[in-house]
Amino acid sequence: MAPRKLAAGNWKMNGTAAALAEVQALMAAHAAPNVDLLICPPATLLAQMNWAKQAHPLAIGGQDCHTDASGAHTGDIAAAQLADAGATHVILGHSERRADHDETDALVRAKATAAHAAGLIAIVCIGETLAERESGTTLTIVGGQLAGSVPEDATAANTVIAYEPVWAIGTGKVPTLDQIAEVHSTIRADLVARFSDGANFRILYGGSVKPGNAADIFAVPDVDGALVGGASLKAADFSPIIAALERA
Ligand code: PEP
Repeated sequence: MAPRKLAAGNWKMNGTAAALAEVQALMAAHAAPNVDLLICPPATLLAQMNWAKQAHPLAIGGQDCHTDASGAHTGDIAAAQLADAGATHVILGHSERRADHDETDALVRAKATAAHAAGLIAIVCIGETLAERESGTTLTIVGGQLAGSVPEDATAANTVIAYEPVWAIGTGKVPTLDQIAEVHSTIRADLVARFSDGANFRILYGGSVKPGNAADIFAVPDVDGALVGGASLKAADFSPIIAALERA
């Protein structure tokens, strides 16, 4: 059976309490979604969002976690603290964190292990830079990140892969559908080779997904949903993307 599709929003460092109105509008527009819905707001909003969603199946998640369960790490957040605030997921190894905070595959892998220990679903992000794409090394880079960032305890139930070409994030540029298909099928083959349930892992595409391109992207084989940045901030933008995924 194909894995249940997932529409995930990454709010990054955007949003204050006023933005909860967008979540209310989104839940009203998708009262009984036939796909999984997830918003990863700034950590400051998790508890309020958890309260606001009440019985709606919307899931909420963090955008990073520490490798340790607790301790002297000023400014960091532990996976168990995310879970305590209502999170069920955490984005790990986003290219902005890899670039801004020098996160390596090994660190992302350790964070994913910590997330799993706290009962969270880890969304592990991988993707090539423009220079890597242009030099023809995309599959090597993405394969290496996948092998290095996903821990041995990963299963289809506790891990989601997000393929996010760095050059497509926030730029309005999107790979061709053939390019997306090539990378997703390679990721799938790697997952199947490594994990007994590799066929069931969800593989999200991320990078400038918009209402206008979502349906085409969701028709690509092995695209099981999207990780959406800018277009997840407003219900008016995210809702048609969710609707396209529900139709896919
Ligand atoms: C992201 O940051 O995960 C992302 C996909 O951003 P955007 O949709 O804005 O390109």
